[in-house]
Amino acid sequence: MAMTLAASAEDTEDTREAAPGPTYDLDRVRADFPILAQKVHGRPLVYLDNAASTQKPRAVMDAIAACYGEYYANVERGVHTLSQRSTAAREGAREAVRRFLNAPSAEEVVFVRGTTEAINLVAASWGRRHVGPGDEVLITELEHHSNIVPWQLLCEERGALLRVAPIDDRGEVILEELDRLLSPRTRLVAVAHVSNALGTVNPVREIAARAHEAGAVVLVDGAQAAPHLRVDVQALGCDFYAFSGHKVYGPSGIGALWGRRELLEAMPPWQGGGGMIRTVSFAGTTYAPPPHRFEAGTPAIEAAVGFGAALNYLTALGLPAVGAWEAELLALATERMAAVPGLRLIGTAKEKAAVLSFTLERIHPHDVGTVLDREGIAVRAGHHCAQPVMERFGVPATTRASFGLYNTREEVEALVAALHRARKLFG
Ligand code: PLP
Repeated sequence: MAMTLAASAEDTEDTREAAPGPTYDLDRVRADFPILAQKVHGRPLVYLDNAASTQKPRAVMDAIAACYGEYYANVERGVHTLSQRSTAAREGAREAVRRFLNAPSAEEVVFVRGTTEAINLVAASWGRRHVGPGDEVLITELEHHSNIVPWQLLCEERGALLRVAPIDDRGEVILEELDRLLSPRTRLVAVAHVSNALGTVNPVREIAARAHEAGAVVLVDGAQAAPHLRVDVQALGCDFYAFSGHKVYGPSGIGALWGRRELLEAMPPWQGGGGMIRTVSFAGTTYAPPPHRFEAGTPAIEAAVGFGAALNYLTALGLPAVGAWEAELLALATERMAAVPGLRLIGTAKEKAAVLSFTLERIHPHDVGTVLDREGIAVRAGHHCAQPVMERFGVPATTRASFGLYNTREEVEALVAALHRARKLFG
C-alpha cells in the first residue's frame, strides 16, 4: 500500500517541510511493528492511543536484544571490553539525540527518564538558582501537568509567581496576552511545542523570540512534537528542549533534555551519586561537567540504546514524510467526525498535530472508550493530565484519538463507523 503524499505539507515555522519523496510505504512501515498484527476482542487492533505512548518497531527491539545479548555491562569507568562497548552504544544514542534535535553538541544532551524528569531537573537545578522572591515563571493554559506542577512547586518554594497565558476557543495561545504577561520579572517561559489534549502546534519560535526580548529563558516541552515534527532546537531558538523516548517509538523510562551549553555548565547538580562527580572527599566534592553532572547513578543503558534506535528509525523514515501522512489522516478524521451527530471537537487550532479530542453528547468519554475497545479500537479517555484545558472548555474529560506513523485511512474509517454505532447505541 504505497500512499501518495500531499507534496505541500504546510508549515507555520521551521519545524515542518514538504515531504521529500512521492510515496510512503505504509505496508512496510506496519510490518515493522509486530504488535499491530493482532486482534482485540476478535477485531483487528486499531491503535489510536499514540499520544499516550507509541508502539515499538523491530529495530528498537533488536537494538535492546543486542545490548542484552551481546555487550551489556555497566557503563563508564569500566576498563573491560563489554563496559566499553556499552558505554559506546549509550554515547552513540546521545549522538542520535543530538542529530535528531540538530543540537550543536552531544554534551548538551542529558539522558533522563522522560519529559517529566527533564522539566523537574530544570526546575530543581536552574530554577532554584535563578528564580527568587517576586520573580515570575510564565506558562500557558494548555500545558500538560508535567509542565505545570514542577513550576508550581518551584514558585511556592522560592516565593515566585506562576503566570498563565490563556488560550482561545480554538485552543491557540493568545499571543497578545502572552506579551502582556511578559515582564522584566519573567525568568522563564515554559511552553509545550504541541498540546497533548488539543493537538495545537504552538508557534514556539515566535514565543521564544518574545520571551528572549523580555530577558527570559525558554523551555519547550517537546513530548508531543518530537513524534510528528522535525525539531531543530537551533532554529527554534529555545534554551531547553525536553522529550520522551516512549512517545517516539522508543522505550519507556528514557528521554532527553537538551540545554544550551552555557546554561547547563552554570547549573548545579540536582541529584547526587555515582557518575556525576569529578572527585569526592569529606572536605568537599567537585562535579563532572554536563551532561554527566545531571546523570547520577547507573543509567537506563538498554533503554538509551533503544531510544537511539527509535530516533534513527524515525529519521530514516523522514519526519516530513511522517508528518505529511499524519496530516492526511488528521484531515480525513476531522472531516468524517464532523458528520457524527453530537460530536464536539475540542481543539480546532489552525496548526494541529494528529490528535483529536472530542466529546459525544450524552455519552461519557469513558463509555465511548469502552465501546470502542469492544471493537478493537484503542483510544484514551480522561483529562489527559491537562485538567486546566478541560476546565477551559467546560468538560470533565474527552475521548482522544491520536494517530501515529503506522495508522491507516481504513483505521480512521473504522473509528468513525464505531462512533456512529456508539451514537445509535446510546440514543
Ligand atoms: N508533556 C506533554 C505535552 C505530554 O503529552 C506528556 C505525556 O503525555 C508529558 C509532558 C509527560 O511525558 P512523560 O510522562 O513521558 O514524562
